Amino acid sequence: MSAGVVCHVGLGGNVGDAAAVLRHALVALDGLPQTRLLRASRLYATPAWGVRDQPDFINAVAAIETSLPPHGLLQALLALERQSGRQRAADGSDRWGPRTLDLDILLYGDSRIDTPDLRVPHPHLHERAFALVPLTELDPDIVIPGVGLASTALAALTASASGDGRHDDIKPLD
Ligand code: ATP
Ligand code: CA
Ligand code: CA
Repeated sequence: MSAGVVCHVGLGGNVGDAAAVLRHALVALDGLPQTRLLRASRLYATPAWGVRDQPDFINAVAAIETSLPPHGLLQALLALERQSGRQRAADGSDRWGPRTLDLDILLYGDSRIDTPDLRVPHPHLHERAFALVPLTELDPDIVIPGVGLASTALAALTASASGDGRHDDIKPLD
């Protein structure tokens, strides 16, 4: 494979054995065409975000190198979600709800993409401790294009009064 782009993928799930689903998904990411897994964060148990009344999530971040273009990578990730058994409501009403596997493109190199079906950096990345904690575990100096240092965003969340930013609730499985 010729040198590709380093991308960061957020993984999450809260239905069934989510830790096993995420570990399997990391292997599946490595098996995507023109793609290899570079590193994976630990798995973290995290309180649900957005729609609170559901089981805790397991979250992680993977660094991959890929030659797939951004929309090609998105389609490949959506296919992996379907293979995990994830069901989607046709009208999108299950956004932030329970799911076996959620794979989001957090960063695609230093690209900024704003299309109807793909926004990168992920628009909520800077306000989600469950994504920033594993991301900064992989690379403490990583920059979110248009935002700044991920570690600064995480510190700002921690300092703010918002309960959504509490990252003392984000616990590594071990
Ligand atoms: P959120 O995007 O806030 O984390 P979600 O992951 O629950 O919410 P989904 O229902 O999984 O949302 O995805 C809805 C749509 O979001 C996808 O079909 C995809 O087209 C779009 N999308 C936009 N930007 C991204 C991105 N960076 N990564 C993954 N999907 C994205
Ligand atoms: Ca998501
Ligand atoms: Ca998603």
